[in-house]
Amino acid sequence: MKLIDEFRDRDLAHKIATAIARAADTGRRYRLMEFCGGHTHAIFRYALQDLLPSNVEMVHGPGCPVCVLPVARLDSAIDLARNPDVILCSYGDMLRVPASGRTSLLQARATGADIRMVYSCTEALKIASDYPDKEVVFFAIGFETTTPPTAVVIQQAVQLGLKNFSVFSNHVLTPAAMTAILESPEQCQAGSVAIDGFVGPAHVSTVIGYRPYEPFAKDYHKPVVIAGFEPLDLMQAILMLIRQLNEGRHQVENEYTRAVSRDGNIKAQQRVAEVFVLRSEFEWRGLGTIPNSALQIRSAYSALDAEQRFELPVRPSQENKACDCPAILRGVKNPRDCRLFGNGCTPETPQGACMVSSEGACAAYWNYGRARQSSQATPESKT
Ligand code: SF4
Repeated sequence: MKLIDEFRDRDLAHKIATAIARAADTGRRYRLMEFCGGHTHAIFRYALQDLLPSNVEMVHGPGCPVCVLPVARLDSAIDLARNPDVILCSYGDMLRVPASGRTSLLQARATGADIRMVYSCTEALKIASDYPDKEVVFFAIGFETTTPPTAVVIQQAVQLGLKNFSVFSNHVLTPAAMTAILESPEQCQAGSVAIDGFVGPAHVSTVIGYRPYEPFAKDYHKPVVIAGFEPLDLMQAILMLIRQLNEGRHQVENEYTRAVSRDGNIKAQQRVAEVFVLRSEFEWRGLGTIPNSALQIRSAYSALDAEQRFELPVRPSQENKACDCPAILRGVKNPRDCRLFGNGCTPETPQGACMVSSEGACAAYWNYGRARQSSQATPESKT
């Protein structure tokens, strides 16, 4: 299949692996964070870490929208769904994420809440049209990739005159999270778990372009290489990062030229700007409160903002203290460090979002990596 098969060529992958082995300076370590959970899964699915020298370490980032949603927001969604007038529409991954008190959207549904799994926000709009006597709320989560469709359905709801549709917005922003990682105590303590460079996200960058990553190169002296999701994309991006680091360069480079430009999808960005504004701050699981890191619905569309339309009291949330998701999302632990991994926490019995989500690091380790002896040690254990 064009644009797929040629990026999965085994011989080429081994050639790039040889080039990486030659380029990697044996006298140093390379700690490269793949921000995106889709990249984490591709690395495990194709066993790419096994093709890398032992001094090239992939650190998993927080680019999993289900994983970074704080429990308090999920609790609010469950509270909303328990309103008998409400139909809550959610992506499937969210349904099994543990909330406070060992509950979940799935459990709320089992006890009577009307919660529908949807594959797109357009489906939620259709449900609103089909059930005019119900309040239909779309539980919107995701990075910049999923924000434009949410903006479009909000505008469509206005055009259609749908009075019973609203959105609970939890859309978050990639560059703000990268900044938070670089400014976290772990990164600022020299010699601890400092990340040398980033494999930049693919889907997000098709929307925002690669210009927003330029401050990480200029101000933080961290190279960023945008990569596609295929194994050769990732191997090539890793080689490009190693070459930059060897040459003392810190630039934004684009491996994913077939889909990403410097300025991204301007039309999509305009749609988002028409409907959303920056929140002054937003709580992320694992990363804490990050300024200007999420989007809320503009006042012009407040009638479609579930946070304006419904009372959503914030109650104290209860995280599972034994779950290491927060440290994993910051890249300072890996799933094998969690004592619950495979020991009470599996995809069938998830104790944290990182095991539920199709982009979660724990799910990647479980689905692709558990049979193999991991070649990854935690950053902490290697220092
Ligand atoms: S293995 Fe389960 S409990 Fe442990 S960090 Fe991952 S999701 Fe959380």
